[in-house]
Amino acid sequence: MAAPVLRRTVCPLDCWDACRIVATVSGDRVLRLDGDPTDPVARGKLCSRTYRYPERATSSERILHPMRRTTEGWKQASWDEAFEEIGGRLLDLRGRGRTASVLHVQSAGSMGILKELSHRFWNLYGGVTVAEGDFCLGAGKAALTRQLGDYRAHDWDDLVHARLVLLWGRDPFGSGPHRLRSLKAAKDAGARIVSINPLLLTRSSLLDETVRLRPGGDGWLALGMARVLLDRDLFAAGFLRHTDGFEAFSSAVRSVAWEDIAHGSGVGAGEIERLATAYAAADPAAIVLGTGPIRYRGGVEAASWITALPALTGYYGRSGGGLTYTVRHQRDTAVPRWVGAPGSGRRTVSAGVWATQIATLDPPIELLWVNGANPVAMLPDGDRIVRAMAGIACKVVVDFHWTDTARHADWVLPHPSFLEEEGLVTSWGHHGLAYQRAVVPVRGEARTDLEIFQGMAERLGFGPEMAGTPEEWSRRLAGERLIDAEWETLHRETGPPVSEGSAPLPSTPGAAVPSTPGTAVPATPETAGPAIERGRSGSDAPEGPPLRRVRSRVHESVPFVGGTFATPDARYRFPADLPDPSDLPCTSAEFPHLLLTPKSREHHLSQILDARQPMFLRGSMGTAVAAGLGRKESMVEIESAHGHLQAWLREDPELPENVVTLPPGGTVQRRSAVNLLIGPDTASDGITPAYFDCPVRVRVSSGAPAPLPGSHNGTASPAGGTSPNGDAS
Ligand code: SF4
Repeated sequence: MAAPVLRRTVCPLDCWDACRIVATVSGDRVLRLDGDPTDPVARGKLCSRTYRYPERATSSERILHPMRRTTEGWKQASWDEAFEEIGGRLLDLRGRGRTASVLHVQSAGSMGILKELSHRFWNLYGGVTVAEGDFCLGAGKAALTRQLGDYRAHDWDDLVHARLVLLWGRDPFGSGPHRLRSLKAAKDAGARIVSINPLLLTRSSLLDETVRLRPGGDGWLALGMARVLLDRDLFAAGFLRHTDGFEAFSSAVRSVAWEDIAHGSGVGAGEIERLATAYAAADPAAIVLGTGPIRYRGGVEAASWITALPALTGYYGRSGGGLTYTVRHQRDTAVPRWVGAPGSGRRTVSAGVWATQIATLDPPIELLWVNGANPVAMLPDGDRIVRAMAGIACKVVVDFHWTDTARHADWVLPHPSFLEEEGLVTSWGHHGLAYQRAVVPVRGEARTDLEIFQGMAERLGFGPEMAGTPEEWSRRLAGERLIDAEWETLHRETGPPVSEGSAPLPSTPGAAVPSTPGTAVPATPETAGPAIERGRSGSDAPEGPPLRRVRSRVHESVPFVGGTFATPDARYRFPADLPDPSDLPCTSAEFPHLLLTPKSREHHLSQILDARQPMFLRGSMGTAVAAGLGRKESMVEIESAHGHLQAWLREDPELPENVVTLPPGGTVQRRSAVNLLIGPDTASDGITPAYFDCPVRVRVSSGAPAPLPGSHNGTASPAGGTSPNGDAS
């Protein structure tokens, strides 16, 4: 085995954190990944999902060659054949003036900025149908854009200036865990940390209190808090000159009876009064908003009402105050210029419900291109998406392993793992930037999205317009986020590309990094970045001066300073409409329980090896659900109006009594995907699925789940009965 070396890169997975990574590499194999101890975000720690990533990157389930569906199953093809056939179809569509008959679906499979170049490619092609919007965060973005003009975030470090932090529908224990450090710093500096959530996140002493509200009752709770601030004269009258619509807002708030507020929020008037009074007294208090409140039909309105609280107290624009949700990242500054003007054929459908919308499109969709996404598993009602895909003549999926979506494609094009890819990575949780390096060579014939679009552009006659290295395109797309000196720093932080090789730094001490438990091998830093002081994740923040990270220059540390908002008249807009009681999730006699699917600490939705996929999901149930079953734990059948699946549930007395929770995950192929239960409703933005509006019924299952055809030992092969890489299964 080649002597292990340490190489730096960054995690581009769909997550708030964008951690820098130290990879221990031997030859072309990644032995392990660790958090970079010199990174102010990671500080030596990753999450369990990424610690396990090398297993996925080297798995036999990897797609290593272009694959074409034939009448005899999946067959390996060459890249030339793929470009010829798919490119021929694209040329034919363009020749018939039907570029809009291409549907492009892309999500956040990677937070690499180069992924934006897909839009350049399709615009140069002539404009296609684009599944537009953010189906994960979209409802919150819509609310903040409507009320504040934009969604902008405080720097993480700014939280240390807060005297109270409302963690509103955000679970840093389950998602984006590095935020915990800034919360701990705030607590150490004297802040109280209050979770507002239907669920008890943890018993960690980090949380001073949890306000348990009704699922979907967030807007009503914010309304109640506003009522207290107004009635008790606890609002900042001087700040109102930076706002619009206050009179109508205050009249609307005062028109609602307390009984309705208590019913809508599930929180008593006394508790609301105590929370609102503490919020006003903290001066300042920060709100860290998560995705919990926005995953209901009333998600946009709920987030809108939450934005009103810092406007009433004048906490916007103040260090330690404001409201932080997500960061405007990839599509700002120089990106639109480099993506170019949309071709004349461009049209849009909703990223959340495109499978429904495309049925009536004229011209119809004839070619589907999916990259960085697995919509069959990620969106509600995967069966509907499978049916929609079946009606499309040619489906192309770019991925690095066999997903539910890839299984229903006609062409599957192999993509590298993120350990084999290069480019600038931004974050949707903070303002830091990092440069992703290939730490091992590309496996098989995999090509990056950029390389695939460049190859296809050659076939379509606009190759020079897409030409450029990952480094060149990263610099162009970064635009004003960086000055050149910072660009150089980014390069030093992660070192040269692995393909160039590099000599070990003699001045940097090698750390003893065990490759397997119980053994120790010398590992050598192979980059020109800062010294790697220790490898494994156990360290807390290193002693010494605060760690720094190159951050985007176009993002402020504290947004909306001086009460200057991003609306056309620079004023905050108070919400005009009261929360609608009919938007609250409703159970019924037929479906008496409510299913919630909070983030999992274990894996990113479908990003889990088939061999590791459980035959069924394991979740929890409230006491009323368990009482109805007459059991404290059981294999159950969970049914909704849209689907059913088997799962294992255990009673959790801390859950709301009528609630069932399952982790998001599972696969449609195994009939274990939780999204099979969820209907097609969206929030009012028309994009964000109402994932948490899911009434269900639960009954004891009559038996263990039946093994899937073609599966053995819990492992299923892709559709067609032939293994992913063309070998006999
Ligand atoms: S916390 Fe997020 S960014 Fe960090 S390693 Fe895990 S998935 Fe990647």
